[in-house]
Amino acid sequence: MYDFIIVGGGIAGLELGAMLSHDGRSVLMVEKAEHVGGRSFVHTKEGFELDNGIHLVRFGRKSALASVLRHIGKEIEFRHLGKSYLIDGQNEFILFPTGPSGFLTSGLFSFSERLKALGIMLQFKRGGTSGLERFTVEEWMQSAGIRGGLKRYFNLVCASMLVCPVASVASAQALSENINMVLKTGISVEYPSHGWQKDILDPLTEALRRHGKIMTGTRVDSVVIENNRATGVKINGTVTNADTVIVDVPSQDLGKILDVRGMSDERLKTAVGLVPTSGISIDYAIDGTISDSSGLLYLEDPLSFGCFVSNLSPGIAPQGKSLLTWFCPIHNEDMKQKGRTAAYQERLESRIESIFPSLKERTLFQRVLHLNMVDGVELSIGQLSDKRLGYGIRGIDNLYFVGDTTAAPGAGGDIAHESSIGCYRQITGKMRSAGNT
Ligand SMILES: Cc1cc2nc3c(=O)[nH]c(=O)nc-3n(C[C@H](O)[C@H](O)[C@H](O)COP(=O)(O)OP(=O)(O)OC[C@H]3O[C@@H](n4cnc5c(N)ncnc54)[C@H](O)[C@@H]3O)c2cc1C
Repeated sequence: MYDFIIVGGGIAGLELGAMLSHDGRSVLMVEKAEHVGGRSFVHTKEGFELDNGIHLVRFGRKSALASVLRHIGKEIEFRHLGKSYLIDGQNEFILFPTGPSGFLTSGLFSFSERLKALGIMLQFKRGGTSGLERFTVEEWMQSAGIRGGLKRYFNLVCASMLVCPVASVASAQALSENINMVLKTGISVEYPSHGWQKDILDPLTEALRRHGKIMTGTRVDSVVIENNRATGVKINGTVTNADTVIVDVPSQDLGKILDVRGMSDERLKTAVGLVPTSGISIDYAIDGTISDSSGLLYLEDPLSFGCFVSNLSPGIAPQGKSLLTWFCPIHNEDMKQKGRTAAYQERLESRIESIFPSLKERTLFQRVLHLNMVDGVELSIGQLSDKRLGYGIRGIDNLYFVGDTTAAPGAGGDIAHESSIGCYRQITGKMRSAGNT
């Protein structure tokens, strides 16, 4: 009998499990894969630590993730990114603004666009976004007269911040809320200085194990519900009991472990049909150093961005070697068509190789991932927080949910981190001032 069973060992489950175990509560985490981390897993190959795609931490030291680590007594160092650039069709590097001063100096904008950009940022900073919930980013840009360099800028921000390459789908409200957070915290994204494994996954795992246990390679068949209470989980036909069950499984997969149709919670029923974000991630493990860039590098065709992650955290590549990771967000509908995805990959590889001519001959190995789920929820109009899972559901008061398909604020991984704090708060009543909620 455990105090808590957590189904799924993704980053949100690890964060919540670590905090509960830190409080002295007994926790059993059950993870179907051979390792924890879920979509934030780190794969090690030939001395390179490969994140599961670029894993920058939104708001870095001021993120919900940093608050969780602090709560378990672990203060980690985050690295600021260097200057970011848009690389145009002629392979010219144009400064990409990551803060208000960038708007004044970037060659991307005309004089009037600079002034307009500053006005919009001021409006976002004040939280003046009422009414935006009904608009897509494309509609908002049209109504606000955003054109030229400023439109190019917001299309790229939409692709990177919301992982949505289609401005006619992404929510203007979600964009403004996330930009508001960047302006409030003064941090866009940062990266843990010793990488995800050492700075994030290892401390969380260690904290969880203090009063808990992690079972990997073990699939939960179902959550057991009796008389409107979650009493445990069924694994290979055997029930393990707990006072409370927490589920860290993307809502689209909940039907596999819960009788979703038989439950009275309407949000749960909607949440199984949410559309995730998708895309292609390419890692280049490089013999030597081919760039000293430590910021984000953006392309418009195909819409994508990359980073020499080892320039931020040298320890994630063997000495004298480097790691470049590139990500191309693709709409989930396009991702279902194999031919289209292959064409994206081919275009992306040839663009990257044209920018770094020595890359091909110096690549020790390349890893390409075609990912149907990147962030659990595409932040489009019909998928904002009111349509996503709450931390609990009506009718069963000891069953909780965490992860990036819940109603927590933010985007992508930040939703997962915020959800662990929100859910922890709901369960324990503690940690009122942490996180961004
Ligand atoms: C390529 C890529 C790049 C990304 N870049 C960023 C970034 O730069 N910044 C950012 O903030 N976010 C980023 N993200 C998103 C981030 O990785 C996710 O938001 C986050 O990892 C989600 O964590 P989670 O715990 O909610 O879910 P998951 O990681 O999906 O965890 C769920 C876990 O449950 C397990 N599970 C499922 N069913 C069962 C079962 N029946 N029994 C037992 N276990 C089960 C799964 O195996 C999995 O480990 C990126 C994601 C990808 C794929």
